[in-house]
Amino acid sequence: MSGKDKRFPLSLSSVVEKSQKSTHMGGGSSIRIATPQTATQNAVQNTVARTAESAELQARSAIRNQPVPPGSSRPTPLVSDAVRLAMVARVAKQGVRDGKVLAAMEAVPRHLFVQSGLASQAYIDASLPIGHHQTISQPYIVARMIEVMRNNANGGKLDKVLEIGTGCGYQAAVLSLVANEVYSIERIKPLHELAKTNLRPLRIANIRLQYGDGMLGLPKAAPFDGIILAAAGLEVPQTLLDQMSIGGRLVAPVGGRHQVLQLIERTGKFEWTNTTLEDCHFVPLRPGVV
Ligand code: SAH
Repeated sequence: MSGKDKRFPLSLSSVVEKSQKSTHMGGGSSIRIATPQTATQNAVQNTVARTAESAELQARSAIRNQPVPPGSSRPTPLVSDAVRLAMVARVAKQGVRDGKVLAAMEAVPRHLFVQSGLASQAYIDASLPIGHHQTISQPYIVARMIEVMRNNANGGKLDKVLEIGTGCGYQAAVLSLVANEVYSIERIKPLHELAKTNLRPLRIANIRLQYGDGMLGLPKAAPFDGIILAAAGLEVPQTLLDQMSIGGRLVAPVGGRHQVLQLIERTGKFEWTNTTLEDCHFVPLRPGVV
């Protein structure tokens, strides 16, 4: 993000309404639009309301109640809001319980991170192409990884986190709502630029995007109390393990054709523990930059 983009919370209403016109949200046939009062929605709203911290709730309502820029129409309940809520309901049903993560998923307009031709599919539970043979990760796995990272001894408090594999910038935006500072590295220059373009209108002040090889980490900003890899290597580079704070948690897909999600916790200066969580499928982690 440029130094100019300092305002928070996200300035969403104008962005979302503008993009709706060009992306035909709700016009497509492949999405199911939730009715205002479904049982699942209520379940999610209750889960979120029960567990989210009040600051988070305030942030969400601030996002909804953005002042209307001169010349734009009055804010109305948006189709993308309803579809996004249905996505969050599915993610909760798949087992993600962390209210702060669910609230963050509800706040970030995922359809602004996919190509306009795919916007009608932005809220299905699938990864989607973002160009350069890469994908935006499936909503469930984004939420799950962040939930696991937050399940630390500090009650979920995260100061600095690092993401390897910015892609289109979606997960970085979700992370910005659960951590004080988010650093995200991408090795493909046009994707690094795409993420900047996608994130700029959201005016998120606490994300730092970096073009480079994430396998080297970001020594100048280390240590991190959370690291998420959005691409799968055969093993987690030791360099990244060395950039974790003690008590820090790293979540990464590991493997080749068969991949598993791993949680690595740093328990001491030279001690890490490793837990295998579940099967997953990610694009490969590659060295160098292009
Ligand atoms: N975080 C994204 C997912 C992007 S897909 C989301 O929000 O959906 C994974 C990304 O990891 C790809 O863009 C790929 O180029 C990137 N990647 C792979 N190896 C990398 C490396 N060594 N350093 C930085 N990025 C890497």
